[in-house]
Amino acid sequence: MSGKIPATLIPGDGIGPEITAAVTRVLDALGAPFEWDLQQGGMAGIQSAGDPLPGALIDSIRRTKLALKGPLTTPVGGGFRSVNVRLREEFGLYANLRPVKTMVPGGRYEDIDLVLVRENIEGLYVAFEHFIQVGDDPHAVAISSGVNTHAEARRIVRFAFEYALAHGRKKVTVVHKANVLKALTGLFLQAGREIAKEYEGRIAMDDRIVDACAMQLVMNPWQFDVIVTTNLFGDILSDQMSGLVGGLGMAPGANIGEKAAIFEAVHGSAPDIAGKGIANPLALLLAAGLMLKHVERDDLASKLRTAIEQTLQVDNVRTADLGGKVSTADFAGAVIKRLA
Ligand code: NAD
Repeated sequence: MSGKIPATLIPGDGIGPEITAAVTRVLDALGAPFEWDLQQGGMAGIQSAGDPLPGALIDSIRRTKLALKGPLTTPVGGGFRSVNVRLREEFGLYANLRPVKTMVPGGRYEDIDLVLVRENIEGLYVAFEHFIQVGDDPHAVAISSGVNTHAEARRIVRFAFEYALAHGRKKVTVVHKANVLKALTGLFLQAGREIAKEYEGRIAMDDRIVDACAMQLVMNPWQFDVIVTTNLFGDILSDQMSGLVGGLGMAPGANIGEKAAIFEAVHGSAPDIAGKGIANPLALLLAAGLMLKHVERDDLASKLRTAIEQTLQVDNVRTADLGGKVSTADFAGAVIKRLA
């Protein structure tokens, strides 16, 4: 039970340093066992080491196999390749677990308790992309190829079923676009049907075409339980699902692989509010809760969850995105008060 656990801490860009500072304060008050190795990545990595993915950051995660990561800015259009995607590839982080649960009553939806499992290293995010020049226009045609493998699709679907079993869930929905992308996502659906047979009688399985799923998540989200889907669809649907529980400030994510696990918020660096001290630190704090469960400190994870729920529901202390007034730092202070 006791003893320090080495873990890499990456504050990240934009609101990253603000929410990371808030989260580490709360974790200290909780008595979390992490011994942080502070590393920079993204724009902060460029500033400190001339590289968005410095070797020291990679070496640190190789050593600790565990990281809490703030959001990293990726240039839109041109510029360097997403550091998030490169980290997922580097450490084989094949599963991205993104739970969403109602914590603030009185929103548009009540009693949401859903889990999205996103395939994290294949699909269209392999970004095999190029332009073809026609005449004088070097960007006349853009081409992108996605890659899904049978083995990886089976592995991620199995991950979703195993998660469902371990957490008392009843159903896994495989989300795809197999009517149009018959090879790329048809393969995923096929893997889903194969794996589902192994869990027959224990966990139910159904499937949805992604566009219909997006609509049904708005009309009747309670029909879903665990959703497993390909990389791009999972990226989009998980942001949509965060909207069911108050927005991106409420959605944590865990990137799980064989070589490491990296915990982060679903949201990005939020440049529009960076530096103002108003970002909601909850998504990263909930990600830290997932990290505590990962290192088998469920006791601390549930203590943290209770303190967060009391802060939101009893004390009515909330950041601006949830209709409140408190700053990032004051929200952390309120959770710390509840922990005491
Ligand atoms: P974003 O998630 O940063 O922001 C979208 C909207 O949500 C903004 O209005 C923002 O203010 C709000 N928001 C996000 N997090 C919030 C929080 N904690 N509290 C309150 N409001 C919050 O998405 P974006 O603007 O499209 O992306 C900005 C940058 O982040 C891009 O460079 C993108 O590549 C990067 N990004 C990184 C990650 C990651 O590191 N895992 C994930 C997504 C996007």
